[in-house]
Amino acid sequence: MKFSALTLLRQAMSGNTGWPEQWRSPEPKAAYDAVIVGGGGHGLATAYYMAKEHGMRNIAVVERGWLGGGNTGRNTTIIRSNYLWEESEGLYEHALRLWEGLSQELNYNVMYSARGVMMLAHNTHDVQVFKRHVHANRLQGIDNEWLTPEQAKEFCPLLNISKDIRYPIVGAALQRRGGTARHDAVAWGYARGASALGVDIIQNCEVTGIDRDASGAVSGLQTTRGPIRTRKIGVVAAGHTSVVMGMAGVRMPLESYPLQALVSEPVKPAMSCVVMSNTIHAYISQSDKGEMVIGAGTDAYTSYSQTGGLHISSHTLDAICELFPEVRRLRMLRNWGGIVDVTPDRSPIIGKTPVPGLFVNCGWGTGGFKATPGSGHVFAHTVATGEPHPINAGFTLDRFRTGRLIDEAAAAAVAH
Ligand SMILES: Cc1cc2nc3c(=O)[nH]c(=O)nc-3n(C[C@H](O)[C@H](O)[C@H](O)COP(=O)(O)OP(=O)(O)OC[C@H]3O[C@@H](n4cnc5c(N)ncnc54)[C@H](O)[C@@H]3O)c2cc1C
Repeated sequence: MKFSALTLLRQAMSGNTGWPEQWRSPEPKAAYDAVIVGGGGHGLATAYYMAKEHGMRNIAVVERGWLGGGNTGRNTTIIRSNYLWEESEGLYEHALRLWEGLSQELNYNVMYSARGVMMLAHNTHDVQVFKRHVHANRLQGIDNEWLTPEQAKEFCPLLNISKDIRYPIVGAALQRRGGTARHDAVAWGYARGASALGVDIIQNCEVTGIDRDASGAVSGLQTTRGPIRTRKIGVVAAGHTSVVMGMAGVRMPLESYPLQALVSEPVKPAMSCVVMSNTIHAYISQSDKGEMVIGAGTDAYTSYSQTGGLHISSHTLDAICELFPEVRRLRMLRNWGGIVDVTPDRSPIIGKTPVPGLFVNCGWGTGGFKATPGSGHVFAHTVATGEPHPINAGFTLDRFRTGRLIDEAAAAAVAH
């Protein structure tokens, strides 16, 4: 069913009883041309573009829980493309352009809101780093601009630019096209689009093994809902990528950390943009429901617990209350964690693996939501054709052997 004002009116007249299910929930078939492991935004987007742009209809997405129940539904939804290196700029800008038309593409409101993402500088190092980003981005035609503290306050009136705080603000970089989107809607929109194109979306189906034939190539999957034969597998399992890839005997250069976020009670619109501070590690925006959405840092140690240390979120609140004194008057409603998969250079891995037929898309760490459409688009090309798209050609697994790193770790302390 196509969503339109007319459909809304028709459904309203009939008591909203005629809305169909948004995607099919079929039983898994015995065999598929390709299977995507992981029903987060990236996996669903991959399946959607494989079906839409590469004509692959006999494919499935298998998800051990529910769609978007991983990091896709747990993140703080910051979208921006002002990364430092050319490879990253190409990838994230590709994604940003797709965000701009995504609701129309999917006929599903993903609530992309280009409200601007402002990154605060607190010391000379920050100023140098952000100005370098501004120049590098502008050379690539990507918007990013430098603001004085007064201009930053004009853009975000709640900001405290007093010189008397522990880490005073000395400037900011602003990407006006950056913003937020509704994370669940992104998963649901891609699922709906993929299902309509014939992709089987199978929830509550955990992959427990990857089968390989005598030549070493993949030949199928073991799942909690039975075996599936396939010659192509795309692993898009975020924090659990190492576990799934281990089933095929591939060791990944990844570490999995809890990363957490929290929201306040809802209030009237007060924060019109996204503000990030890498140095004191806090970032904030306001959701359409009115909650202040606050992101914290990763725990200092690896773990698969989806909670995160209390001292991490309380440290973040210290920083937020200093930057935005009005927030002190709000109650925090809830906090949660996700498991993020972090590479040594803080850039993703999107491509082939040493196992024929096995492809991987991972390593998005703390900042992959923003890349969802672009990541899915280029990974679909990679899985469908067996070769990387020019945009993800540099994001190989092999770079950790050759040393051709894409070092966003040194470029930015956090990558949300
Ligand atoms: C608190 C927090 C805040 C964040 N903030 C931002 C932000 O502001 N901006 C930004 O760009 N990014 C942010 N991120 C990062 C972002 O959420 C992720 O990079 C992105 O959502 C990853 O998407 P995905 O589809 O790869 O992973 P996921 O959504 O995690 O999907 C992977 C799926 O694989 C499934 N899976 C795992 N193992 C198996 C198995 N064996 N069999 C079947 N299925 C399996 C999981 O259940 C999961 O649903 C944040 C993350 C967190 C946790």
